[in-house]
Amino acid sequence: MSDSFDVIVIGAGPAGYHAAIRAAQLGLSTACIDKSLGKDGKPAPGGTCLNWGCIPSKALLDSSHKYVDAKEHFAAVGIGVKGVSVDVPRMIAHKDEVVAKLTGGVAGLFKANGVTDLPGTGKLKANRQVEYVPHEGETRTLEAKHVILAPGSVPVDIPPAPVDGDLIVDSTGALELETVPERLGVIGAGVIGLELGSVWNRLGSEVVVLEALEDFLPMADQRIARDALKILKGQGLDIRLGTRVMGAKSSNGTVEVTYQDGEGEHNLTVDKLIVAVGRRPYTEGLLAPDSGVNLDERGFLFVNDVCATDAPGVYAVGDVVRGPMLAHKGMEEGIMVAERIAGQKPLVNYDTVPSVIYTHPEIAWVGKTEQALKASGEAYNVGSFPFGVSGRALAANDTEGMVKILADAETDRILGVHILGPQASELVAQAVIAMEFDACAEDLGLIMFAHPTLSEAVHEAALGVAGHAIHMVNRKRK
Ligand code: FAD
Ligand code: NAD
Repeated sequence: MSDSFDVIVIGAGPAGYHAAIRAAQLGLSTACIDKSLGKDGKPAPGGTCLNWGCIPSKALLDSSHKYVDAKEHFAAVGIGVKGVSVDVPRMIAHKDEVVAKLTGGVAGLFKANGVTDLPGTGKLKANRQVEYVPHEGETRTLEAKHVILAPGSVPVDIPPAPVDGDLIVDSTGALELETVPERLGVIGAGVIGLELGSVWNRLGSEVVVLEALEDFLPMADQRIARDALKILKGQGLDIRLGTRVMGAKSSNGTVEVTYQDGEGEHNLTVDKLIVAVGRRPYTEGLLAPDSGVNLDERGFLFVNDVCATDAPGVYAVGDVVRGPMLAHKGMEEGIMVAERIAGQKPLVNYDTVPSVIYTHPEIAWVGKTEQALKASGEAYNVGSFPFGVSGRALAANDTEGMVKILADAETDRILGVHILGPQASELVAQAVIAMEFDACAEDLGLIMFAHPTLSEAVHEAALGVAGHAIHMVNRKRK
């Protein structure tokens, strides 16, 4: 096998494997080095997303949602189900089957596209030389005209609650619990805390979520965040804002958590504790001292707008660089870099990266929030539409939430779309498309949407910007 390539990618998470496949599609000789191993000890390309992130968490979210539907919601539409129960090992096994299928799929795509799959560890040295330490066999020095670094991220640790992998776990451990803990603590009411807290709450845990900030989901539109907080609390998630965790100690099979809030110090006893306080870029062992790649002040690999590092011919993509730590953001960066290496000139539009929190109802948005527009003094109009009056949501007996559209007061250009509701993760794609095409709210209002669909809520919210929503009384009528 050659030791010289047009492109070497380090890391086969979504950012790295998209870069590798696209580079190979464009005729570049490409190798991808990845060190992840699956539960069976075999190479498992796909990174955090496929192994311990997006996919396994969504498998458990979907399974646990089906359970709650059967247990609590079927009766209202005339379906009686007796003896609904949870088989946690089977649920986890289903999740593992999905993960194995998809990581195997990435290996298959590498083969089909002619990407040289190199399981093991890569380290960037000077002049785009890469030290490759395979899981089996001798260390080799490879070289490439271009190197793409995509090593991803790992969970942040906090000294008061050190993860022991048994009673105190991070997100990876939280996807592997063998039984439903009676009492579950979660530190951090961010995306992981809410998603994995929801999974175990649905399966029967009493869940307490301790969040340091006073505001709930400050990055989301605050109207949507307020409604979401109320709904999630109603589902049983005991979310305590403005708390500071002082310590967490395991003994006799339980964890004693001490925390402070405005009222003083409190103790909380739980059977498991999930620490979900953010992720940090993972660069350990990645760079030789003479690699020429620099880090920024927060430890991310420093890159310019098109993901080029300070070392000529070396790029970095995904969680390890600035911007939201989201799989789809990394995928687009990976593709952009591969195409730029091949001489094309694509860009990533960071203004239209959608965010989704896969609770039920889901929370999804793209663009600016109302609080950001207020703070910047931009004049805007708002249109909103509640799922409570959507025919399709009523038919499905799934009516919580709303669509909210913010548009420029003068030009009517859509500035932000915020959705709390069933299938918000799917609906937000319409908003991304509209914003990518610089659509006005009126444009969305003029488009025909199939009836009856949840999408009609997007249509009605767009009509609502100008005061013409049909299925609600508009505050301003035109
Ligand atoms: P990663 O996916 O982290 O992949 C990096 C790969 O590089 C890994 O396989 C790693 O082992 C390998 N590697 C690192 N260093 C080296 C080296 N020196 N040599 C060889 N290999 C190396 N995002 C979403 O968009 N949607 C979601 O629903 C979602 N859910 C999530 C749920 C959870 C529980 C978690 C933890 C994350 C979730 N994320 C989600 C975030 C998403 O997983 C990350 O944004 C995404 O995986 C980042 O992709 P990446 O390719 O940059 O890095
Ligand atoms: P996060 O940044 O979303 O949330 C962390 C939360 O923990 C914040 O609200 C923060 O204020 C709080 N916090 C920090 N330190 C704390 C402390 N000492 N005590 C109490 N609270 C504390 O991070 P996360 O939930 O760990 O997720 C990491 C990243 O993974 C996310 O930012 C996201 O990019 C990605 N992710 C995405 C999805 C998705 O797209 N659906 C799902 C999971 C993870």
